[in-house]
Amino acid sequence: MAKQQEAIQAIRGMHDILPDQSPYWQWLENHARQVLAAYGYQEIRLPVVEKTELFKRSIGEVTDIVEKEMYTFEDRNGDSLTLRPEGTAGCLRACLEHGLLHNQSHRLWYYGPMFRHERPQKGRYRQFYQLGVETYGMPGPDVDAEMILLTDRLWKKIGIRGKVQLQINSLGDSAERAAYRSILVDYFRRHPDKLDADSLRRLETNPLRILDSKNPDMAELLQQGPVLLDHLGAESLAHFNGLTATLDELGVEYRLNTRLVRGLDYYGKTVFEWVTDELGSQGTICAGGRYDGLIEQLGGKANHAIGFAMGMERILALVEQLDNVRPEPAVDVYMIRVGAAAEKAGMLLAERIRDQIAGLRLQVNCGGGSFKSQFRKADKSGAAYAIILGDAEAERHEAALKSLRVEQEQSTLNHAELLRTLGDWHHNKTFN
Ligand code: ATP
Ligand code: MG
Repeated sequence: MAKQQEAIQAIRGMHDILPDQSPYWQWLENHARQVLAAYGYQEIRLPVVEKTELFKRSIGEVTDIVEKEMYTFEDRNGDSLTLRPEGTAGCLRACLEHGLLHNQSHRLWYYGPMFRHERPQKGRYRQFYQLGVETYGMPGPDVDAEMILLTDRLWKKIGIRGKVQLQINSLGDSAERAAYRSILVDYFRRHPDKLDADSLRRLETNPLRILDSKNPDMAELLQQGPVLLDHLGAESLAHFNGLTATLDELGVEYRLNTRLVRGLDYYGKTVFEWVTDELGSQGTICAGGRYDGLIEQLGGKANHAIGFAMGMERILALVEQLDNVRPEPAVDVYMIRVGAAAEKAGMLLAERIRDQIAGLRLQVNCGGGSFKSQFRKADKSGAAYAIILGDAEAERHEAALKSLRVEQEQSTLNHAELLRTLGDWHHNKTFN
């Protein structure tokens, strides 16, 4: 006898989405698709693997992602490839490669898994799903506001608007940022004793990221430090004021967070995050900003770009916590078949029902079983109705219909009556 093999498990931080969870995912995905369609955004589908160089050049060498989080490997040709840690770089690469940025504007979205070798914990995984949005060719700030309105609409639609807060900031242009960086570095150099080890290291590599520190011992130092917004030139300020004016006019509340710098190198001008305090330290559910400069960095002509990405697991965790979403059961009608004639007639009848009632979800019992055991499965399926077929019904071209959710006599119907009854029920359910 073969020795029982040890079972193989999934990779740490990479999760299966089981059938009882997938309705929540589909529910969120559908709402997101509808909102994106309402603003005229188009989907782009991108490879999961790209050349490592793409991420190094776009995200930046001294960021958390490139320094320590990428899944990089050599393929059989000896090329260095990386599982995408985010979607912005690949999306822009694709648009440049296919010439989509010549005198055109685009509003795009993509969806799929991203990979980062982080320490797995709640809300932080090694494979996680992002829905990302990127727009090209529009200088803003109108489209900057649109990004925020779109996300705001989605939060309202899925019922989490009351639990999330919008934070915004401006990073200015690269010259303003460089000037501010040296002012900031001077300031920190005057207080080396107040910087933790991480920040001392960042002082040399990516000093703006120090502003992001959550270390309470550094709070005061950061509080009293110079503020980037005070060092913006007229154009950047006008851009930022344009954005806040639109948000004010449309009644979108926001908090100015002068320490919001984002972890990636490519941002400039508008940056924003949607945060919640219901999810512990993994509280950012959506983040993005303007990255005009990245286009040239990847070999394109000077242009404009702004985008964001949302973390699906974190949004779903918030939804789950609020407990106000009940995904529908997967089945409307369950067909019970007992006897050889019933099994045959049932399969035919089921196909006829599916032909005639588009959208009705009908599951046929397969694998046999007594009336009793099939009824148990029907009930467990969550179906509203059971169609019951024995050989006697099959011979008379009839079927019994029983409501599984409301107290009601079982009725015996011919096929036409059955189709009409189910059709009416489905129509009412869909359109009421
Ligand atoms: P964090 O500060 O939490 O590490 P980040 O700045 O690295 O986030 P982004 O690169 O901006 O995140 O990604 C956008 C969104 O994707 C985040 O706001 C978050 O919702 C989600 N996200 C990022 N990393 C992970 C991860 N490892 N697991 C799950 N979701 C993630
Ligand atoms: Mg991160």
